[in-house]
Amino acid sequence: MCDQGCGLEVSVEDGQPVRIKGSKRHPYNKGWLCTKGRAGLDLFHSPQRLSSPMIRREGDLVSVQWEEALDFAAERLGRLRDQYGPESLAIYRGEGIGHQEIKYYMKRFANVYRTPNFIGVGSLCHFSKTLAENLTYGAGTGPDIDNTRFLMIWGGNPFSSHEPVVPGEISRLKKRGGKIAVVDPRRTETASKADHHLPVKPGRDEILALNMLHVILKEDLWDKSFTDKWVQGFHGFCEKVREDGFSPENGEAMTGIMPDLVRQVARSYATTRPACIYLGNGLEHHSNGVNTMRLLSIMKAITGNLDIRGGEIITPMPKLRDMNMPLPQPSIPPVGSQEFPLFCKMRREGHVLAVPDAVLEGRPYPIRGMIIGGGNASMEWPNSIRVREALRKLEFLLVIDVVRSPDCAYADVVLPACTYLERDEHRVNADHCFHQISLRRRVVEPVYGLPDQMIWARLAKHMGFEKYFPWKTCQEGIDYILGDIGVSYEDLISQGGIYEYGKREYKKYEQKGFPTPTGKVEIYSERLKDFGYDPFPIREDVLEPFQESGEFPLFLTTGANVPYFVHWQYHYISKFRKMVPEPVFEIHPETAAQYGLSDGEMAQVNTLHGKIQLKAHVTPGIRQDTINIPQGWEEANANELTSEEDADPISGFPNLKSLRCRIQSGPH
Ligand code: SF4
Repeated sequence: MCDQGCGLEVSVEDGQPVRIKGSKRHPYNKGWLCTKGRAGLDLFHSPQRLSSPMIRREGDLVSVQWEEALDFAAERLGRLRDQYGPESLAIYRGEGIGHQEIKYYMKRFANVYRTPNFIGVGSLCHFSKTLAENLTYGAGTGPDIDNTRFLMIWGGNPFSSHEPVVPGEISRLKKRGGKIAVVDPRRTETASKADHHLPVKPGRDEILALNMLHVILKEDLWDKSFTDKWVQGFHGFCEKVREDGFSPENGEAMTGIMPDLVRQVARSYATTRPACIYLGNGLEHHSNGVNTMRLLSIMKAITGNLDIRGGEIITPMPKLRDMNMPLPQPSIPPVGSQEFPLFCKMRREGHVLAVPDAVLEGRPYPIRGMIIGGGNASMEWPNSIRVREALRKLEFLLVIDVVRSPDCAYADVVLPACTYLERDEHRVNADHCFHQISLRRRVVEPVYGLPDQMIWARLAKHMGFEKYFPWKTCQEGIDYILGDIGVSYEDLISQGGIYEYGKREYKKYEQKGFPTPTGKVEIYSERLKDFGYDPFPIREDVLEPFQESGEFPLFLTTGANVPYFVHWQYHYISKFRKMVPEPVFEIHPETAAQYGLSDGEMAQVNTLHGKIQLKAHVTPGIRQDTINIPQGWEEANANELTSEEDADPISGFPNLKSLRCRIQSGPH
């Protein structure tokens, strides 16, 4: 039910799945399942599931047969391409379909259609971290918590977000005497288990990282044997960060963290080997997210923790067949490539933040049609009010989903996808530091809908693209994708659903160098310079104080997870709604008293961009100058308070976690 890809065992009786449990043989979750995983049957049986394709007629969505819906969609997509050019279609891939196999089909469809505007949820989530690490080492890393001695969790709350394995790893680390530091404006479940909690002011993580680096460099705590050989640009960086301006004492007013605590944590991190840092998505959603994560990537490297047991593991991907090949890439640049050129080049995609402008204002060129697969743009994207305006203006919108998502309200055609219990799919587990490909086997034939892969293949057939989508089943598609490594669907089954394509090795850079242009860890990045960005990770104006705002005196963080939901997903599962019946915002007791607000009382939250109403949850577990609003609630949509302004200039990730706001108590 999320992209973690936990191993499951499903019992089937009379053609129906009746029990789901975690697979003890799966190396990742080892039998454990989260609340959502245990509710797989609730999704399977959900009355919210789409049971048939629908076409909008006289304002209403009405059920039709597959052939009619596909013919209708193909005719409209063909007309769009002929009238306005293929670039007038954007295809959006949401979180709901994961980040692997189904995405390949969607991107292939975009290429055959010849639109450059394949756009993914990677413009909003997770890729900013990957981008920062790629710019610094040429590869992403994963923390080896099970073998570490010191763990820093920065901007993440794995006890509550969809991270099934990390909580167990943290508990084991504590049992064997390891130490944990958590950086988060909220005293989360994870922070409450830590040895040190650093409740940083929202958006000041960059300064805090520099303050820690100052301690490490000033006190000669870095790994000189590593930096001498493997770090390019270290000397200039070291000189700069040692300046007094970056001391924890100077940073205190900006970060809100006592200098002694910063010094203690920096020393412990740098002198305990091995150590690792868990970079949470909370770091990504600020206007300085990539720079902050570049600094933390540098901290991992100069302390000698890269690619060692218990440190930061680099896991190579297997050589899968690229479904985009041998198709030529579209020649027109995607939307977003002017604003975020490096992001679009690295991902070979457009950017979400550029879509509303393209639809509403025709900038840089008009987008007039969209296909949304497993996503929910009207709530997931920042500035929901403007996004909804854009969705309403589209000449054609096709939504593919398992359930009737809020985006269906704007759709001309809706196609039902089946659940993961009804489709075959492979998954590479490199992001969990395993050299493994696992198979998710369908346990029953689709009750409703089709596997997403086959929806794209059938739509392609109706468009006349059949020769590019020869796969009649998901199994054939898997055989194609894994063909170059000589593994088939049947091989995966015969090996118990898990195929190992390699073994973990450490310090791989000693053989081949790092996969960067210089072969080293790059503090100074020529690649950033080539795209017009500052190549040095310390911004000129980094020490300038944030603009204070009398009108909006509080910080607002949005989007923190609760264990039951992933954004809007699963809000429709009734047992989860009993656990969390309504949205509430967190506010510190002293701040609540200042506003005359009691626990459970309704209040209005305003930002420059919008306002919503929801109840207060008064808790000491948050900074006094900050409130926190969860995401994914239709009745109080946090993205009505956010905007595309103030996005990170490199990744284009919106600022969702260091906004300014004000509150007014009582209903409005
Ligand atoms: S984390 Fe939970 S929802 Fe995600 S795959 Fe694992 S069990 Fe399923």
